[in-house]
Amino acid sequence: MSWEIGAELEEISKAGLMRRLRVLDTRGVVGRVGGDGPALLNFSSNDYLGLAESDWLRGVLREAVEKEGAGAGASRLVCGTRPAHAELEEALAEFKKTEAAVTFTSGFAAALGTIPALVGKGDTILLDKLSHACLVDAARLSGATLRVFPHNHLEKLARLLTTATGRVLIVTESVFSMDGDVSPLREIVELKERHGAWLLLDEAHAVGVLGPEGRGLVAALGLEGRVEVQMGTLSKALGLSGGYVAVRQQVADLLINRARSLIYTTAPPPAIARAAIQALEWTRGAAGQQARLRLRENVARLAEALALPLEALPSAIVPVILGGEEAAMQAAERLRSLGFLVPAIRYPTVARGSARLRITLSAMHEPAQVEALARALG
Ligand SMILES: *Cc1c(COP(=O)(O)O)cnc(C)c1O
Repeated sequence: MSWEIGAELEEISKAGLMRRLRVLDTRGVVGRVGGDGPALLNFSSNDYLGLAESDWLRGVLREAVEKEGAGAGASRLVCGTRPAHAELEEALAEFKKTEAAVTFTSGFAAALGTIPALVGKGDTILLDKLSHACLVDAARLSGATLRVFPHNHLEKLARLLTTATGRVLIVTESVFSMDGDVSPLREIVELKERHGAWLLLDEAHAVGVLGPEGRGLVAALGLEGRVEVQMGTLSKALGLSGGYVAVRQQVADLLINRARSLIYTTAPPPAIARAAIQALEWTRGAAGQQARLRLRENVARLAEALALPLEALPSAIVPVILGGEEAAMQAAERLRSLGFLVPAIRYPTVARGSARLRITLSAMHEPAQVEALARALG
């Protein structure tokens, strides 16, 4: 028996799929590779409102550390639940208009803990084909029968619903992370209600960006109270780290008893929870609203420069699909030589033959910076 790690790496490399970590030193929307490389305009961060890079949130976090200390010391179920964790969960439930919320160390951990707590052997998960890896892994881990429907395909979903057995959980996203498009949420909610199924909706890229007060797609469509599990992350528009699900109180109680990624892991640092409460308030308030407007103007600017209708870009994520892995890599390299950091996204993150540039816009980008990117893309 041999491990052949070298051969495995060789294979990845030959397929043009080798990934490497790149150290990036950032300040605002400018990043330097390795800390001393040339200045690159960053169009790859999910810091949509500029909170992660803001002096304000740095200050909030510094104060929170003074007040709360460093680590939590133990699991949420042992002695790791501090007032800040409980208050953040209350604030998230209020934000999402649900009875309760449960926070996790990351969005990934939220998925891994929640889905297997809700469904198992004999149950069925109906999953959108373009769902994030954490949803796919959580679905597999649950042991439920997994059926994948083509991206946003309502007829196929309806057909699968008629034959699904046990508890039936539909899993999809509001804004898809690599495509930036939005799911037909109203229709999915109507379908699942007709069949008595539940819906887990991942709002990772919608919170802070869509809906009144940045409350996401559920709020934008007035569907509060009709989505059983609203999942999200504190690590994108909210600028920190951590994940959550907003649910009924009963479901929260079940998760506290069954979600292994909550029970068997140390609670997130309470200072992060404390800062997240303020980031949430900022996002909902006038400053957040202004940032959302600036972000939307930047999206409109890029749409116009690329001759796309604005409706084609409903989120802050703009994919430029090139097809081949090599073409995408070369395009990203060329943009980098022109001073723009735009990642090439390849298999296995996206399907083979759909390699792309993934542009993410932020409220922090200056109009001239967006226009310069559009020129470079042209
Ligand atoms: C980023 C992301 C996650 C994971 O969230 P983290 O807090 O970064 O672990 C989950 N779902 C989607 C759609 C994401 O884009």
